[in-house]
Amino acid sequence: MNLALLFDDDFRSPGRAVLSGRRLAHLHSVLKAAEGDRIPVGQVNGRIGEGHILRLDDREAELAVTLDSPPPPPLPLTLILAMPRPKMFRRVLQTCASLGVKDIWLINAYKVEKSFWQTPWLTEEHLRENLTLGLEQARDTALPAVHVRKLFKPFVEDELPGLLAGKRGLVAHPGTATRCPAGLDEPAVLCIGPEGGFTPYEVTKLAEAGCEQVHLGSRILRVETAVPVLISRLYDSCNF
Ligand code: SAM
Repeated sequence: MNLALLFDDDFRSPGRAVLSGRRLAHLHSVLKAAEGDRIPVGQVNGRIGEGHILRLDDREAELAVTLDSPPPPPLPLTLILAMPRPKMFRRVLQTCASLGVKDIWLINAYKVEKSFWQTPWLTEEHLRENLTLGLEQARDTALPAVHVRKLFKPFVEDELPGLLAGKRGLVAHPGTATRCPAGLDEPAVLCIGPEGGFTPYEVTKLAEAGCEQVHLGSRILRVETAVPVLISRLYDSCNF
C-alpha cells in the first residue's frame, strides 16, 4: 500500500478521514506508523496528497487529509481479456490497475472454461477490492471500469467496432508474422486470449473487426505474464 485510497465512507467530515481494517493493519505492521506521521493518500477518482495521522490506536487511525495533486495519467488502452482462470484473474486485475489500464472487457472464448464465470472474484465487492489493491500499489486513484461479456460473437460484431473507433486494434496471438509494436503514441485496443489461446475462428472474427494479429516472440507466456509484458511494450511506463 503505497497510498491509502479513500472512499466517501472513510470521510467523517471534509478533510478528516478514518482508516480501519486492512489499511489500519498495514499502518501498524508494515509502515510502523505513529501519531504525527504523514502518509500518502488519495481520494477515489480524485486527487492525491497526504494524510497527517492525528490519532492511531488498535481500532482506527484518524487522518487530516490534504489532496493537492492529480493522479498519474491513464493509459490510453482498452484491454479485452478472455476470462482468465480465477486464481490468475485477481492478480491480473491488480496488475492492470497498477499499470494504469482504465477500461477492461472480460469476454468469453471457446477455451474459457464455463466454471471461470462462477468465480466470486467477479462480484462488485471483489472487483473493487482487487482494483483498489492495484491502485494503492501504484499511487493511483482512478478506478478502472470492468465490463463482462459472456457471448463472444455479439461482443465482437456489435460492440468491438465501436471500441475500435479512432484506435489501433491488436490481438496478441503467438506464431503470427507481425511483431507486437512498441512505444505507441496513439490509443489502442488490445485483445489477449485464454490459457489455451484464441481459436482460428475467433482470431478471424477479431481481425474482421479491425484487430491486427501480433506476436511477442517464440516464448509462449502465461496470461498473467503476457499482460504486463504486452502493456509495457506498447506504452513507455515511465510516462504513465
Ligand atoms: N497455446 C496457446 C496459443 O498458442 O495461443 C497459448 C495461449 S497463451 C498462454 C495466452 C494468451 O497470452 C495468448 O492467447 C496471447 O494473447 C498471449 N500470449 C502469450 N504468449 C504470447 C506470445 N508469445 N505472442 C503473442 N501473444 C502471446
